[in-house]
Amino acid sequence: MKTLHWTPEATCGQARAGHLRTAHGTVPTPTFMPVGTAGTVKAMTMDSVRSTGAGIVLGNTYHLMLRPGAERVRKLGGLHRMMDWPGPILTDSGGFQVMSLGALRKLDQDGVTFQSHIDGSRHRLTPERSTDIQHALDATITMAFDECPALPATPETLRASMELSMRWAARSREAFVQREGYGQFGIVQGGTERDLRAESIKALTDIGFEGYAIGGLAVGEGQELMFSTLDFTTPLLPQTHARYLMGVGTPDDLLGAVERGVDMFDCVMPTRAGRTARAYTERGTLNLRNARHAEDTRPLSPHCDCLACARHSRAYLHHLFRSDEILGPMLLTWHNLAYYQRLMRTIRTAIVENNLPKVTAELRAGWASADWSEDEFPRPEIPPVP
Ligand SMILES: [Zn+2]
Repeated sequence: MKTLHWTPEATCGQARAGHLRTAHGTVPTPTFMPVGTAGTVKAMTMDSVRSTGAGIVLGNTYHLMLRPGAERVRKLGGLHRMMDWPGPILTDSGGFQVMSLGALRKLDQDGVTFQSHIDGSRHRLTPERSTDIQHALDATITMAFDECPALPATPETLRASMELSMRWAARSREAFVQREGYGQFGIVQGGTERDLRAESIKALTDIGFEGYAIGGLAVGEGQELMFSTLDFTTPLLPQTHARYLMGVGTPDDLLGAVERGVDMFDCVMPTRAGRTARAYTERGTLNLRNARHAEDTRPLSPHCDCLACARHSRAYLHHLFRSDEILGPMLLTWHNLAYYQRLMRTIRTAIVENNLPKVTAELRAGWASADWSEDEFPRPEIPPVP
């Protein structure tokens, strides 16, 4: 049986281009996965998600197990059918979200008992239960159940947490049902400690997974510490398997992590920013609520073919946000996801063409400059009524 697997295509330094081959289609990597928390990428239809070039999306076990419930998702034909996304779906294990419930959860060696943030009802997640739920959701990629400590933490706390996560990884693997084109990823823990990360990778590769995620980063340690942790972590991971950095990040974070050998990413940033009037562009971020956009007839970006940029001006987007119109978050989420996907394609092409350092320098120079004067803006054209 051929399980989900990653095949290499090209490298440039540590950066890798490849393909993730799954039961639900093949995804070119590096790739960014839009977050579909509760069975929807917020403010987007799945057609609009597809139009940005996204190849794989993420679903959240914690949210879906509470509402509408894993069994109900299964009865509705699984998450692919329910949300109209026939492509690959990665689900998280619920661990990270349960851990962030603070006082509402109680951790023991076997699992976590927690109270729903919705109605206070009590629930329990264990490695076995999390794996079963992800099976019921029909996740293409199932994540191992782990514990993720907040940073900074003492080396003793990080060690105890990592060792618990490795015992849970073995139990998650035991509970996983192999199916053709499906897979399960183990999650490397150990905070910013080199020895702990190495031990964690040894434990996970001894168990054997279809891919390896780097967890426990992007939890408040800052970009510099995240990059230095990746510097010693990714070289220890198998060359033959996909690598996924969880919950990252800004365009610059993605670029830096790809340079350090990461293949897959997910983050709420482009969607969340889209709902709060913040646009990602080649020239850094723009706040569309700002008065300086009130009469600006240019599109957000002259390089973007999303609906917001093809048909609308910055002035109109500004008006929508100032008026609290629902179309504002919709258009800007679309634009931000389109930008993230275009960025990943640009980076991927640069790896294939062995040109990443030059492209990296150009991208970073662009983000640092708010000067659009060199850019040629197309004249906004209103298409005729058909
Ligand atoms: Zn756009």
